[in-house]
Amino acid sequence: CGIIGYLGSHEAAPFLVEALKRLEYRGYDSAGIATINNGKLERRRAVGKLVNLSDLLVHDPLRGKSGIGHTRWATHGEPSTRNAHPHQAGPVAVVHNGIIENYQDFRAELAEQGIGFDTDTDTETIALMVRHYMDQGDSPRAAVARILTRLEGAYGLLFLFDGEEDLLIAARKGSPLAVGHGDGENYVGSDAIALAPLTDRITYLEEGDMAIVTRSSIEIRDANGEQVHREMRKIHMDA
Ligand code: GLU
Repeated sequence: CGIIGYLGSHEAAPFLVEALKRLEYRGYDSAGIATINNGKLERRRAVGKLVNLSDLLVHDPLRGKSGIGHTRWATHGEPSTRNAHPHQAGPVAVVHNGIIENYQDFRAELAEQGIGFDTDTDTETIALMVRHYMDQGDSPRAAVARILTRLEGAYGLLFLFDGEEDLLIAARKGSPLAVGHGDGENYVGSDAIALAPLTDRITYLEEGDMAIVTRSSIEIRDANGEQVHREMRKIHMDA
């Protein structure tokens, strides 16, 4: 339902939780964040109000200067901790807004390889497929580009990878996503309101776009894989 990503010079977790609070207005049943700490993905997820996630983080903090966060409005699988995003499969973590219509196809394909499922969500199959492609030798961006060509339905997606502390990969189709420009930092959000405390300089992704974001660069490719330029806008908002 709501997506946020942070690549910066500060601890990511407080920024992620703060941004998720600003997305509460959209409604949600659970929330979670993932960061990379010393090269390893770690996540915390909680059902119910964001305060449950913040409480969890007080007792069990997540360190790291890059991260992704999500507020979930369940469509596939009951609201529960294990169904909450981010979903992780080995070196990849993902948050997702929307619905993957053909996720049963991926489930069948994965089951054939003997790969099992930890959740009831459509989203988890994306993480599993990306891991599968990476196991075959794909780079993170190649693996994401490959699964995007196969996804049917609607998505705003944001990926984070083990050992890649300076990388976020975002993609959208049928669900809005924007990249926020900072100074030596960059962000991704499902709307400008999520990004408002961080920056007022925003580039909206267009249908079929994939963005490869580092702290110092934002590369956007269209559905054909061509590098494209998308206008940066200055957003005025009462923060
Ligand atoms: N379809 C996904 C799920 O049920 C994402 C729902 C959302 O947009 O929050 O987990």
